[in-house]
Amino acid sequence: MKQVLKWCEEVKIIEGYVRNCVYDLPRKKYELVSSNCNNLIKLMEGNTITENLAILSSENVEWMFFFLSEEYLLEIPELFRENFPPLSMSWETPNSINNAIIHSKNDVSKVISLLNSVVCKHIQLICENEKELILILDKYLRRTNFHSIEVILLSGTADNTILDEILEEYIVVSNIVVQDTNDKSKSSEKVYFSPFFTTNIDMYIESQNLNLYLNKKIYFDEIGNIKNAPESEDIIGNINEISSSEELKAIIENKNFQKHWNVSKSKCFICSDCEFRSMCFDKRIPYEALTGSYFYKNECEYNPYIAKWKDDEGYQTLEECGVISNENGFSINHEKIAKINALLWSEEGVETE
Ligand code: SF4
Repeated sequence: MKQVLKWCEEVKIIEGYVRNCVYDLPRKKYELVSSNCNNLIKLMEGNTITENLAILSSENVEWMFFFLSEEYLLEIPELFRENFPPLSMSWETPNSINNAIIHSKNDVSKVISLLNSVVCKHIQLICENEKELILILDKYLRRTNFHSIEVILLSGTADNTILDEILEEYIVVSNIVVQDTNDKSKSSEKVYFSPFFTTNIDMYIESQNLNLYLNKKIYFDEIGNIKNAPESEDIIGNINEISSSEELKAIIENKNFQKHWNVSKSKCFICSDCEFRSMCFDKRIPYEALTGSYFYKNECEYNPYIAKWKDDEGYQTLEECGVISNENGFSINHEKIAKINALLWSEEGVETE
C-alpha cells in the first residue's frame, strides 16, 4: 500500500516574526525552525518520500528527514490519511481556581480549607524559613487534596540536606526555592521569567484563549488581601473578612477579579508576533489599548522581531528596532527590522521575513 506523509495532530507550529516554533505536545518539548515551515509542510503532506525527494530543494529535504526523525511527520498508508481527527481546542476545568499563592502570615488553616472548597490543585506557599515550613506542613498538609505545593523560603537555610529531607518526607512538595535576599533584582521592576520553556497539550489548549499565568490564579498577600496575582493592582476582598466558601466564590466570580484571565498572548501587542506565545508564563499585567488589543508597560526580555534575549549578543530593545506599543496602539518599522535582521542573522542561517 502507498505510504504517504502526514503531520502529527499533536505537534503544533506557532509562527513568530523571525522564526517558527514546533511544539511537540506529547513529549513536552519544542524546536525552533525556519519561518516557512507551515508552507513546507503543506507541500510535503500527502506525498511519498520519493515524490518529495523529486520536488524539494536539498535544504527542504533535510527538513523533511529532520521532521521524520523527530516523528513530527509520520509515514502512513494513504488509506488512513483522513482518519486523524484534529486536536480538540476546547479547554474546560471543574475547578474555580487552579493555583493559589499563600503567605504564611495568613490564617493558613482557613485559607487551605477555603481553597479546598473551590477545588484548587496547586499552591505556592511563601514561608519565612524551613522551621516555619515544617510546622505548616505537619499541622495542615500531611494529608492534602492539593496535587503540588511549591515553596518559597524568604530567608531559609543554605543547607540542601534539610531541603532534601523535606522533599522526601512530604511528597506533595514539588519544589523549594530559597530566595536570595541580596538579589535586588527580585524587588525591582525587572521583567523576569525563565527562558527555559516547556509545553504540553493542556497548556497549549489553554493558551489559545486564556492567559497562562493569570487564568484561575488567586493570591493572598501578607495581610490577607485577595488579588488575581501578586502583580495585579486590584484588591478584591480580604480573607480576614470572609468566613464561607460562598464568599470566596463570590470574589472569584467578580468580573474585576477575572478581567485578565482571557487576555491570551495572541491578544497582546508584541507577544502576538512571538513564537513562544503558547507556552509563555509572563507575569506582567496587560493593559487594554484604545484599539481593543492589549499592551504592556515594560518590555519583555525577549525581542521576537530579532529573535534575541536580552543577554544575547546583538540584542536591541523594541524601541531601538522601531516597534512601539502603548495605550494608543502598535506601530512597527518593518524596513528597519529587516536591516537589523540581515546584519544579525545573514551568516547564522536563520531565515528572516
Ligand atoms: S512575554 Fe516575551 S517571551 Fe512571552 S510571548 Fe511575549 S514576547 Fe514572547
